[in-house]
Parts: sequence; structure tokens; C-alpha cells
Amino acid sequence: MSDRPDLSLIVALYYEEECVEEFVRQVRAALDDEDLTYEIVFVDDGSQDRTVELTAALCADDDRIKLVQLSRNHGKEAAVTAGIEHARGRWMLMMDPDLQDPPERIVDFYQKAQEGYDLVFGVRKERSASLSTRLFSKVFWTSLNWMTGLQIPTGLSVMRIFNRPFAEAFLQHKERVRFIEGIFMLVGMRRTTLEVEHRPRFAGQTKFNFRRRMRLALNAMIAFSDKPLQLGISFGVTLLAATSLWGLYAFIRKLVFGIGMSGWTSTILVILLLGSVQIILLGLIGSYLGRLYAEAKARPIYGVQRTFNLDEQAVPLEAARPTPVRELGT
Ligand code: UDP
Ligand code: MG
Repeated sequence: MSDRPDLSLIVALYYEEECVEEFVRQVRAALDDEDLTYEIVFVDDGSQDRTVELTAALCADDDRIKLVQLSRNHGKEAAVTAGIEHARGRWMLMMDPDLQDPPERIVDFYQKAQEGYDLVFGVRKERSASLSTRLFSKVFWTSLNWMTGLQIPTGLSVMRIFNRPFAEAFLQHKERVRFIEGIFMLVGMRRTTLEVEHRPRFAGQTKFNFRRRMRLALNAMIAFSDKPLQLGISFGVTLLAATSLWGLYAFIRKLVFGIGMSGWTSTILVILLLGSVQIILLGLIGSYLGRLYAEAKARPIYGVQRTFNLDEQAVPLEAARPTPVRELGT
């Protein structure tokens, strides 16, 4: 289609009333003088503040600004998936509206991609995040890469650009437990990285507290690796070998030297230790089972409540459309 803009910005919004207008202002300042046509596809992920109202007003002023309002909070992964499905550009650039990623670097991403890449990942030069967040993300990415063998670059920023073939390959991945960076690595194609500054949030506060980050980390591990289950087997086999040796030692000691083993404390400790390990492993299996259940139900990844500046046909997910009600007896 010839009416495709060169670039679609894909931006998830969740309680971003303080950022969205400034974000648009800075994007305009960065792109309006460039020889580049663009649209901004905002996806509201169920905010209950003035985010939708303010973004809808921006849409009314400028038809390059689009908004997909989701029916409730579906999570950022679902929101960006909705954005990619509604974007029409030849290139798509994902970024957050809190201005942690600098809009003035959009053009650099676009130019880098033109050197012959399908995907350019932003990596953070230095991070404004707290020490605990940095530590958490270091441990998370290192162990995830070890478990999955994916080799995801460390220090990834949200900002990244990719082309339509890449987006279409991404959308083929219909899983419900969506770990976006993992799917990006699965898609493959020609990719590179670009260093980008990381600033403090313009306004508002982060939506990812420690608990939410832990849940995302667990989702990512479970969606992309079965190593934790295999580790259970290795642990069990090692323990079996050790206890067999210990048992043999106790047996010989009693038989040859007549010295029996005693010790209430050690018995209780061993029982408690083994009990806890078993409960942990059961929980782990339950976590896999729960996610398997979610995939088996195959519920829609997101639901759309309303769109602004997008025509009706732009809603491609079958499941996102309401099911027609059939008359009884027909
Ligand atoms: N976000 C979302 N749905 C959610 C939580 C967050 O769409 O359930 C969006 C939010 O609007 C923001 C982006 O995800 O634009 C990143 O969130 P945030 O800036 O709070 O995370 P951080 O940058 O601190 O990791
Ligand atoms: Mg942020």
C-alpha cells in the first residue's frame, strides 16, 4: 500500500496523563522537520485517569495520532502487541511515553535500520535506575540467557525499531504468556544494537514494583525454558547418590563396628529439608501447569473497547471482535 507512513511509533499508555502531551510535543519537535512520514499508535492499557481523554483530544487535532483503547488492563506485553497489529507504517518503533527513552534519537534508529537491518535494539548507555533495580536486572538477564540459550543483549532499552516483515513474524507468535524480548529473539532476522541514553521519568511513577517484576521474570523463565524442571531431576539424582553413600556408611558402621547412628535433630532436619525441596518442586510444576492451562484456554490476548483515528477494518484479531449473538433455534 502506498499510503503507509514510513514510521509508526508504538506506545503503551497506563496512567500516563502527566506524560502523554509532552511526549507528543517532543516527538513532533524531533520528527516534523525530517523527511519522514510518521504516525503514533497509542494503546491505552485500561488507565482510569485522564490518559484516554487527553490522548483522544490529541487524536482530534492530528489524524497521525491513533489510539487503541483496550477494554481493561491487559499488561504491557498485550498492549504493545495490539499496537503492532494496528500500526500501518513500513517501520515500527516501540518506546515508552515517560521520556526515559529520548525522542530525539528516533531518527538515529531509523537511519541505523536503513543500513540493512530488520531490527535495531536500543541498549542503555548508563542507567538512571536504582542500584537494586540494576542488580535485579543483571541477575535476571544473565540467568535467563543461561536457562534459555537466547543470548538476549544485556541492558536492553524499550526503544527498538523493526520492519513489517519482522512485525508480521512477531505476530505469528500467539502465546498468551508473552515475553516480548524472548519472542523478538525467536524471530531472528538481521539485527543490531544502538546505544541510547536512559533518563529519569518525566513525571508519574513506575508501574513495575518488585512483585510485578518478579512475576514477569518467572513468566519469562517458564515461557522460554524447561531447565528448572530438569534441574529438579539433577538435584534429585544427586541427593539419591549422596544418601545412598551415607546409608551404606551407616550400614557398614553398624555391621562391622557395631556402632549405631543416633540423632533426633539430624533426622528432623533431613525430613524438613526434603519436604521443603519437594514442595518447591511441586510449586514449580504447578507454575508450568498454570501457564499451560492459560495457553490451552487460548483466550484473546487483548480486547478493544474503542479506537480513535483507526478504521474498523484495522482490528485484525478475530477474538477481539464481539461474537455475533445467534437467535435461539437457528
Ligand atoms: N504499561 C502498560 N501496562 C501496564 C504497565 C505499564 O502499558 O500494565 C506501560 C506504561 O504506560 C509505560 C510502560 O509500560 O509506558 C513502562 O512502564 P514504566 O515506565 O512504569 O516502567 P519502567 O520504565 O519503570 O520499567
Ligand atoms: Mg519507564
